Amino acid sequence: MKKLAFTRQVPGRHWVGDGFPVRSLFTYDDSGAALSPFLLLDYAGPHVFPPTSRKLGVGEHPHRGFETVTIVYDGEVDHRDSSGGGGRIGPGDVQWMTAAGGLVHEEFHSPGFAQRGGRFEMVQLWVNLPERSKLAPPRYQGIRAGQIPTVTLADGAGTLRVIAGSHAGIAGPARTVTPIDVWDVHLHQGRQTTLTVQAGHTAAIVVLAGTLVLGSGERLEGPRLAVFERQGERISLQAESAVHLLFLGGEPIDEPIVGYGPFVMNSREGIEQAIIDFQAGRMGNLGEIAGSEIARSG
Ligand code: MN
Repeated sequence: MKKLAFTRQVPGRHWVGDGFPVRSLFTYDDSGAALSPFLLLDYAGPHVFPPTSRKLGVGEHPHRGFETVTIVYDGEVDHRDSSGGGGRIGPGDVQWMTAAGGLVHEEFHSPGFAQRGGRFEMVQLWVNLPERSKLAPPRYQGIRAGQIPTVTLADGAGTLRVIAGSHAGIAGPARTVTPIDVWDVHLHQGRQTTLTVQAGHTAAIVVLAGTLVLGSGERLEGPRLAVFERQGERISLQAESAVHLLFLGGEPIDEPIVGYGPFVMNSREGIEQAIIDFQAGRMGNLGEIAGSEIARSG
C-alpha cells in the first residue's frame, strides 16, 4: 500500500474573474515538487448562478510554459485562444489546452448558460511541461464526454472515467507531453475499491465531494487533497458517503519551477522573456482570429 504523505484542506473560496468561485486545493507555491508535474488545481463551485445577460468569466490573458486542463461537471464554458483553439464545453467534457510557447485566451460562461442560470461546477488543473517543451507551439484538445471511456469498478464500487493515461488497460483520449493519469471517479456510499497506480510517480487524490476513508484509516471530507508517497502501487479507498474524486498521477518533472502569474518557467530569465514576449504581442491577441467577431456575437 502507498503511504499518505500529507493532506490539505482549503477553508475559503476566491473569485477568478466574475465567473469562477474557486478553492485552490494546491498551488506550486505550497506543494510544488511533491505534486510535480501538477502545478495547481482550482475547484470552482458548486455554485448556483442566477440568470444574467452579462458575460461572466475571465477576459483575454496570457499563459506560457504549461497546460490548463478544464473539466466541466455542471454549466457551460466557452473558450477562445490566439492559436485558433477554442470551443464550448459542457457537463462531462474536458478541454486540454497546451499553452507551451504562449498564447492569450478568454474563459467565459456560455451565453446560453448565463441566460438560463443554474448550477456550476468545474475543475481547472495546471500541468507543467518539461523545459524541452515549454516553448513548443500551442495545442488545443477539446474532449467530449462521449470520447472518455467509463470503467465500471469491481463489486459495484462505482465508476472511473479515464481522461488521461490508462486504467486496467483502458486508455483515455487526452494526449499528454509526459506520462500522466487523470481519472474522474465516483464511488457509491459504503463501497470500497483499490486503485493500482504507477510506482515512482506522483499520486494524489482530490476529494471533491463526500467523505472518503483511506485504507490507513485517515478520513477525508471533501473538498480535500491527499498526496501519497511515490513508492508503492496500491491505494485502498472506502466511501463513507457517495464520493466524487479525481486521481492525479504522473511522472515527476525534476526541474526548477519559477512562476509569475500566468507564466511558469524554469528560471527567472525565462519569466523575464515571457513578459517581454507578451508585451511585444508575440503571444498573439484574440482580435487577430478570423471570425472572432462572429464568435463574439454568437
Ligand atoms: Mn487562463
